[in-house]
Amino acid sequence: MLEPALYIAATPIGNLQDVTLRVRATLQEATLIAAEDTRHSRIFLDSIGVSGTRMISCHDYNEAQRADLIAAEIAKGGSVVLISDAGTPLISDPGFKLVRELCARGIKVTALPGPCAAITALCLSGLPTDKFYFYGFLPVKDKELREVLTTFSDSEATTVFYESPRRIAHTLELMAQLYPKREAVLCRELTKTFESVYRGTVSALQAQLLVDENMQRGELVLLLAPAPKEHEVAIPPKARAALEAMLKEGMSVKGASRVLSELLNLKSKALYQLGLELKGQA
Ligand code: SAM
Repeated sequence: MLEPALYIAATPIGNLQDVTLRVRATLQEATLIAAEDTRHSRIFLDSIGVSGTRMISCHDYNEAQRADLIAAEIAKGGSVVLISDAGTPLISDPGFKLVRELCARGIKVTALPGPCAAITALCLSGLPTDKFYFYGFLPVKDKELREVLTTFSDSEATTVFYESPRRIAHTLELMAQLYPKREAVLCRELTKTFESVYRGTVSALQAQLLVDENMQRGELVLLLAPAPKEHEVAIPPKARAALEAMLKEGMSVKGASRVLSELLNLKSKALYQLGLELKGQA
């Protein structure tokens, strides 16, 4: 028997086989399933052989009230599983208010990890994964959208956006005005038959999208690479190679960057930064 608690369970983002054994077993044993859309989730539940369990809906607009009902179910020894239409609940999906409320009441909340479009896209993007920022859905209104996109001009981490196929063309157009040379990746229909990944600069993706209508179909995750660091922009490859060679010869970072700065008329601060990075001291 399951311990009385709220179980946050991740469900597939396309491929129905992407469900963990633990999620399936927990859904089979639960006394109540709280779903974003009960009719939609029935298809998934049927596919894993879960039927007959009592279900309630849990949306953004009713989840605060649902907390009373779910808390009462857990208080009498029940186990409640929270699922959303796809992927991990609470990630651009309902559940936050419910979880917060249950935590405040001292009720046990646990999570059963699994698919999430943002993480799936990040992993296969080829963009840096050491630091990343999940933005979720971009604003719909143009002025707000511009403002938000501008804030990523100097971003230090890979940024993950959820975007609608109706708005992707406009979003890429604005991004191309702001940072045309920045690397970006568009992932569509992840884990599904027509899964595709488009990699390039923002302006290259924008140009490709104008001729490839598929890029505006299905479910999309857009990723933006971190802004290049000052020294990456400022230092040409030949100067980098020279710096590397001087450091290998045993010159200090300070000395080598000063010499190269004078010889090649480059910013010594940028050379120094790169020198530290090359020596693994940054
Ligand atoms: N909770 C979900 C998760 O864990 O990823 C996200 C739900 S959000 C309402 C739906 C958005 O996630 C879609 O509009 C799309 O941006 C992204 N998404 C979901 N499934 C996807 C898939 N199979 N391929 C690409 N993007 C997907």
